[in-house]
Amino acid sequence: MSTDPAAELPFFYGCISRSDAEQHLKLAGMSDGLFLLRQCLRSLGGYVLSVVWNLDFHHYSIEKQLNGTYSIAGGKPHCGPAELCEFYSKDADGLVCMLKKPCLRSPDTPIRTGVFDKMRDNMLREYVKQTWNLEGEAMEQAIISQAPQLEKLIATTAHEKMPWYHGKINRQEGERRLYSGAQPDGKFLVRDKEDASTFALSVVYGKTVYHYQVIQDKSGKLSMPEGTKFDTIWQLVEYLKMKPDGLVTVLGEACVNGKVTEKTPSLPANRRAGPNGYTPPPRAVTVVPKAATAVPDSELLPMDCAGFNPYHNPNEIKKFNIQRDQLLMDEVELGSGNFGCVKKGVLRTDAGQIDVAIKVLKSDNEKLVKDEMMREAEIMHQLSNPFIVRMLGLCNAEHLMLVMEMAAAGPLNKFLSTNKDTVTVENIVNLMHQVSMGMKYLEEKNFVHRDLAARNVLLVNQQFAKISDFGLSKALGADDSYYKARTAGKWPLKWYAPECLNFHKFSSKSDVWSFGITMWEAFSYGGKPYKKMKGTEVGRFIESGSRMERPAACPERMYTVMTECWTYKQEDRPDFKKVEESMRSYHYSISSKAKPEEAEAAAEPTK
Ligand code: ADP
Ligand code: MG
Repeated sequence: MSTDPAAELPFFYGCISRSDAEQHLKLAGMSDGLFLLRQCLRSLGGYVLSVVWNLDFHHYSIEKQLNGTYSIAGGKPHCGPAELCEFYSKDADGLVCMLKKPCLRSPDTPIRTGVFDKMRDNMLREYVKQTWNLEGEAMEQAIISQAPQLEKLIATTAHEKMPWYHGKINRQEGERRLYSGAQPDGKFLVRDKEDASTFALSVVYGKTVYHYQVIQDKSGKLSMPEGTKFDTIWQLVEYLKMKPDGLVTVLGEACVNGKVTEKTPSLPANRRAGPNGYTPPPRAVTVVPKAATAVPDSELLPMDCAGFNPYHNPNEIKKFNIQRDQLLMDEVELGSGNFGCVKKGVLRTDAGQIDVAIKVLKSDNEKLVKDEMMREAEIMHQLSNPFIVRMLGLCNAEHLMLVMEMAAAGPLNKFLSTNKDTVTVENIVNLMHQVSMGMKYLEEKNFVHRDLAARNVLLVNQQFAKISDFGLSKALGADDSYYKARTAGKWPLKWYAPECLNFHKFSSKSDVWSFGITMWEAFSYGGKPYKKMKGTEVGRFIESGSRMERPAACPERMYTVMTECWTYKQEDRPDFKKVEESMRSYHYSISSKAKPEEAEAAAEPTK
């Protein structure tokens, strides 16, 4: 998983040293203006631009600012490393010369992953595992969907899990701990200062312990006196392992805090991670807010919700047959349809009680309806993904009942139209990215949904979406790329691609079309697509080459994705693999931008 915004640049080398950079430039001919970009070791999220001029090398460090922009000291801010390089290729603006020729990476030189990238990935995994009790594929999915938020979250708390962090102990206790056992040079620990204002660093050198106060500037950055500034304490520690930056020695082995290792035995010393140049707001890790419809919480992470736990091991509770006495049914109706209604309930299992939604079949005696529900259950039974509503089982009692996990905040279209004021565009992008992840999973498994629409995207909470309603879905045969319906039924025509309407052909590509309509609904806050048109008129509208306009709140890049989903010919239409990529990259790009108050802090002049 890489979120480095420079990863796609052909002249980006990743984490290489200055001398490696110079070597590459030499091999590429040393022409004036020859340049490459590499990761900066000093400032996380920063880069170094290495340029040739007059047979000499010039290295400019590019800092990532708190508001998410990038700049060379004294230069203009740019929204990304690509934009910055483009700018300097037209205007030297203080550099020795303009950037003239990129020093391209050869195919056998992969981008070198930085030490921080690896640590961050490990830390994310550890966090997700411990906090949400997730493993395997569910963990990977959670990480992909929430990487930017998780990175921010982890930055605030990462040090607490480090073996070298000893919490609130005083200087004497610090010395006692350092003097116990071997005392190699560089053995160190970090503790809270007694007044808890900042951290203190205690280091052994020549059998003596030296204490340093970590300096915190107004914007919250941490450093040694006059030293390089970092966003988090663990980044500073990592840096001090490489450079003394004023200390008597570089940091060596950690003086291990017994308590930390007791609590998290699975956390070896090399498991450290952090964000890309981000100063995190204070936030407790252990908040587990309850899912609620009316109380929107933009800070909520999707999986911080009551009832998420069961999913990491669906087999514990996923029994196809549910006994009637395991089910408590509420009078509350969550929704209704032709088949009957969906009721709220509770499922009792050995593992505890779980809130469930129960689809109750009204006319049991009609074999046709019953078969339909059995088919829906059969499909759902084969699916397992965090962004797809899980079926927990079937219960055949007074009625045939399909028991599903509960998505308490209800259908996306309703949620958005009633919570217009509290749902941000970023929030919608995050949700639609999750939907694209669920759909990508369906595409991989060769299932076609055939009823993807905002009404069938259910919310667990404001940040967590799941695809539901598999009433029309089909599993394709291994060799089939589409399902052909013999006769048209009660179809959601406005969500259907031309090949569905004209030839009754359904594929993942036609689901992509529906995804585009669903995006349109989402970005218009639950608006009705093709407002005044009848279903049959929509066909003509599409055939004439027209498409719906961009909803007012919809970002341009999201409208581009939408219109790509509405590519007439399905061969030319992107698949969900591609759609998910586009959604992910936009989601990451806007989630890593700072909030307004942080942008203000960044506006203060820093040295
Ligand atoms: P239909 O085929 O009639 O559209 P759905 O499966 O979409 O049936 O369910 C109808 C309604 O029931 C949904 O719009 C939603 O309000 C509610 N519902 C269905 N499943 C759930 C669930 N798992 N959690 C919460 N509400 C649900
Ligand atoms: Mg439905």
